[in-house]
Amino acid sequence: MKILVLNAGSSSIKFQLFSMVDSSVMASGLVEQIGENESNARIKYNDNQGSECKKEIKGSIPNHEAALKIMSTLLIESGVIKDLNELDGIGHRVVQGGASFSEPVLVDEWVVTEIERLIPLAPLHNPGHLAGIKVSLEQSPQVPQVVVFDTAFHSSLPKHAYLYAIPYKLYEDLKIRRYGFHGTSHHYIVKEAAKYLKKDVNSLNAITLHLGNGASMSAVKNGKSVDTSMGLTPLEGLIMGTRSGDIDPAVLFYLARKEGYTIEDLDRLVNKESGLKGICGSNDMREIGKMAQEGNAQAQLALDMFNYRIKKYIGAYSAVLGKVDCIIFTGGIGENDSAVRFNSCSNLENFGIKIDASINNQRSSGIVKISTEESPVKVLVIPTNEELEIALQTKEVIERAK
Ligand code: AMP
Repeated sequence: MKILVLNAGSSSIKFQLFSMVDSSVMASGLVEQIGENESNARIKYNDNQGSECKKEIKGSIPNHEAALKIMSTLLIESGVIKDLNELDGIGHRVVQGGASFSEPVLVDEWVVTEIERLIPLAPLHNPGHLAGIKVSLEQSPQVPQVVVFDTAFHSSLPKHAYLYAIPYKLYEDLKIRRYGFHGTSHHYIVKEAAKYLKKDVNSLNAITLHLGNGASMSAVKNGKSVDTSMGLTPLEGLIMGTRSGDIDPAVLFYLARKEGYTIEDLDRLVNKESGLKGICGSNDMREIGKMAQEGNAQAQLALDMFNYRIKKYIGAYSAVLGKVDCIIFTGGIGENDSAVRFNSCSNLENFGIKIDASINNQRSSGIVKISTEESPVKVLVIPTNEELEIALQTKEVIERAK
């Protein structure tokens, strides 16, 4: 069984083709700068037979249709498939599924309309996903297509956790509430942790940390998300590369009244100019670590703030869960930055959390337990694999529909 996973953004399409016999990757690639007129377009492709290629296309790739044509030509020319219609399924990543989708679904007309209707809740993401889905439906009409939502794993949040304390009518009329994101990643690492710890996922309590350029945490009770740090949009919660995370909303009113900031200025400020970048000028954790080691006080401050915010959420989610079986780190920072892991979990012995510094410092590409043998809470590093999770969920939906 061959499943193609598509992650279409507004100007890029990432794809990965899986053989579901052994979950292996048959080919993967990235088409960038779609619709960007002034530059030459870039393509990366790897058919996993050792023939990685990077191409620069003279001129631009005008739209998603052209980008998907390039993808199918690469897959066919490298002999991985003969025709797109030979695929057993296509899984699409969609960031925002709102309250409409609590699980992955087969694409039909209603699903496409709903994703379109949800654009105001994810203006940066859903339009690109939608463009990818529409073109893919045209190009592979015989192939069953499934949408997997980043928000779906958090559909189990109880009402007291997902509501904001603003007039209830705003929830009723406009569906303003916490949705949460990175659900595919949180879900994947919880299932992997259960396998690793040889526990039933339905009785596993975990605090999950997806720490990348975007960062979020979840409290997972009996395998289900019961709270998460991102909200209506992926802005709330942890400090991120360029996003502020939690902030007193009155800061924004103050800036508007005192300094004349517009809505657009404020949007840019908290989404693009804040977070680690706002404090020390860089949003690259590797660079920030190096700067801090060289004595840059702002870089050290950014790290301290980043770790402190995580620690506060570990405390909060420990209280939410009562009993915590494991804490799981993933994402570019969570998987690679031992200092972030150590410092965000330091002095939490009273919470049953104790990291083994020497194991934590060793590099590994697989799952590692970095807590001491005596630590009641197991602390794990688990590489995430959102594409594989999308492929697995796509396969499940298609098989259920047969
Ligand atoms: P992601 O969004 O998951 O790709 O993660 C991107 C973040 O991970 C950036 O802040 C990178 O600097 C950080 N990152 C990637 N590799 C490392 C590493 N080896 N050590 C520390 N941070 C890393």
